[in-house]
Amino acid sequence: MVVGIHRKTYVKVDLDAIKHNITVEKKQTASDQNIFAVVKANAYGHGIVEVAKAAHDVGVDGYCVAIIDEALALRKAGLEELILVLGVNPFEYAPLMAKNNISTAVGDIDFLKNAQVVLKNEGLQLPVHLALDTGMGRIGFRTQQELKEAVAFINQHNTEFNFEGVFTHFSTADSDKKTAVDYYKKQIAKFNELVSCLKKLPKYVHVANSAASIWHKKCGGNTIRFGITMYGLNPSGDELSMPPEFKPAISLLSEVAAIKRIQRGDSVGYGKTYTAREDEWIATVPIGYADGWLRKMQGFKILIAGNFCEIVGRVCMDQIMVKVPHEVSVGTTVTLIGKEGQKEIRVQDVANQVGTINYEIICLISERVPRIY
Ligand SMILES: *Cc1c(COP(=O)(O)O)cnc(C)c1O
Repeated sequence: MVVGIHRKTYVKVDLDAIKHNITVEKKQTASDQNIFAVVKANAYGHGIVEVAKAAHDVGVDGYCVAIIDEALALRKAGLEELILVLGVNPFEYAPLMAKNNISTAVGDIDFLKNAQVVLKNEGLQLPVHLALDTGMGRIGFRTQQELKEAVAFINQHNTEFNFEGVFTHFSTADSDKKTAVDYYKKQIAKFNELVSCLKKLPKYVHVANSAASIWHKKCGGNTIRFGITMYGLNPSGDELSMPPEFKPAISLLSEVAAIKRIQRGDSVGYGKTYTAREDEWIATVPIGYADGWLRKMQGFKILIAGNFCEIVGRVCMDQIMVKVPHEVSVGTTVTLIGKEGQKEIRVQDVANQVGTINYEIICLISERVPRIY
């Protein structure tokens, strides 16, 4: 991916906010709880290595990633804490993970059987976290029978496997609607029922994501997988309110690249979807859907020189046009996400415009946009 370092559009990441959020989380949870910083998907768009190092500075017990390559990037950067790949992986990568001391989620016995052979051949041991499917329907063991079989196999092959963790994932911890709370409770009960067949619990028992750590403090386990809230964002969107101490870390900024006066009746953008009703000032800003600033952002208001200004005409691949109330000079700062004085555009405001969740917006900001710390 070519990164646009000669264009004045960038993501600004406040690493102090991330450190602060981890510290707040530590204060709000029991002292015996471990924290795994979830840094998958380039740390939710914030930059995986920089965020992991910031988390390391304030002290976390490990990192969670989605894919092996993310784990390797952290090892390459010199991070030595536990790294767990949350997704299941092809067994042929078991030796690669073992060599780099990368822990993996395991959701079925076939992985263990196949991986055991290749690990034994190379004299390697792989740390594993057994995933339990308690209602998410994604990965994991669903019955005591399956779980017992897996644990027996691991015990039989403890040269090749280190049974390091057991976990599950909630699908409705971010809502207080009755159906959501009931389902959350069902998942807890299922988790307890499944783990009751284990003679000995592994070192890490983890059930909580950000939402559970905020709204279901008694969910159990000894480790929190701390994701979206580490970035200062609310896992529940606008539904439940989050402790006000958490601070967002991301801003998306650009500069006015061109400014022009158009006459009443002139049109702007592909498909001429916008026509000026009077003489207007139009600023062009170098960001577009190729940067993850979606076409659905047409009509949204962004901050230029202290004013909320409407994006007019269609969002192009690389540029947008914005109606400004008066002439502004080329180089004027444009805030697409973040604060300008007292005014603020939250990631959630962008998500509401697009009809999605804040997670998706930050993951969509493409690698073309440089991250500045
Ligand atoms: C992504 C993910 C998390 C983090 O969730 P947040 O809502 O961002 O806290 C935790 N656990 C698993 C299994 C995940 O996939």
